[in-house]
Amino acid sequence: MFNSANIMTISTTKFSPDNPLMLRHNWSKAEVLSLFALPFNDLIFQAQTVHRQYFDPNQVQISTLLSIKTGACPEDCKYCPQSAHHNAELAPERLMQVDDVLAKAKMAKQQGATRFCMGAAWKNPRVKDMPYVLEMVRKVKAIGLETCMTLGRLDEDQAGQLASAGLDYYNHNLDTSPEFYPQIITTRTYQQRLDTLDHVRSAGMKVCAGGIIGMGETLSDRAGLLLQLANMSVHPESVPVNMLVRVAGTPLQKMEDLEPFDFIRTIAVARILMPASHVRLSAGRQDMNEQMQALCFLAGANSIFYGERLLTTDNPSTTHDQELFHKLGIVSEQCDDISDESHTEIIDQALYNEPLVALYYDASTTQ
Ligand code: SF4
Repeated sequence: MFNSANIMTISTTKFSPDNPLMLRHNWSKAEVLSLFALPFNDLIFQAQTVHRQYFDPNQVQISTLLSIKTGACPEDCKYCPQSAHHNAELAPERLMQVDDVLAKAKMAKQQGATRFCMGAAWKNPRVKDMPYVLEMVRKVKAIGLETCMTLGRLDEDQAGQLASAGLDYYNHNLDTSPEFYPQIITTRTYQQRLDTLDHVRSAGMKVCAGGIIGMGETLSDRAGLLLQLANMSVHPESVPVNMLVRVAGTPLQKMEDLEPFDFIRTIAVARILMPASHVRLSAGRQDMNEQMQALCFLAGANSIFYGERLLTTDNPSTTHDQELFHKLGIVSEQCDDISDESHTEIIDQALYNEPLVALYYDASTTQ
């Protein structure tokens, strides 16, 4: 028997700049848990209804992720093959040359990416690293891509420098709930992560922050993670939801299989709590069949990483993704606001200023 009590009241008003729908920042844990507890069909219906108020349901934003400095990371994140604390088979690589990064960005653009994310396995960028990452931002932006970086912890000054260089997004995941976090990472506190996100927001950049599902956390922890994100004074514009990739040599390599419906539910709850954010189906897609990915899109995921590597783990091939999009009638979301015209100043700087390659970068001391 249909039970209308299962469905929270949802406005069917369409979002528009003239008619902004209220975003909430005061969710309670009980409310979030009650969303998780909905019958699956009711939850997906709510998520899809909310999704259509803010987004074209048949468009997915496409990002490409490049590891610009790989491995030998001093942090001890239990899921990560790049941590120097674990024994994953991974050859460390020094910070890439700026022009090599630019060549990868051009390739990503040709393959349909609208955002280029650059990740470095650092505790934090050092003073001597900054000129190089700033140059990467300027040059990648100059070819008409949105830019995102994930470099570890930032102080206020570094966030300001990245914003001035034109960085659009900074990624720093919360990973899990504050309660479960100490079981996953001990070398960086939850509060330090929140502080970095505050610096990013204060500097005027967009925030990319999400977490990982399948690390042995409880349902309450999943709700706790989403609660942290949804109750920020401004929701992260981008919310990556990762499914744990169990990499050999990491402490989480023997975690049990995650129930796929639990992952899809997490996507749906994220969509309802943060309706105007892009919810990204991130790591773990390699282990999801097409039907599961389709359900994630139905639940409100509208962003993916595109390209065959995700930092150090596999991702579906671009051909496979194109076929899936074709089957589902999904098209790539274009980013209208990033054009040569709208970023003339940054482009001029990147193309006509003295290139930083004149400086010698001593990568031998890179972490
Ligand atoms: S900080 Fe990033 S690169 Fe370093 S161990 Fe943690 S997840 Fe891996």
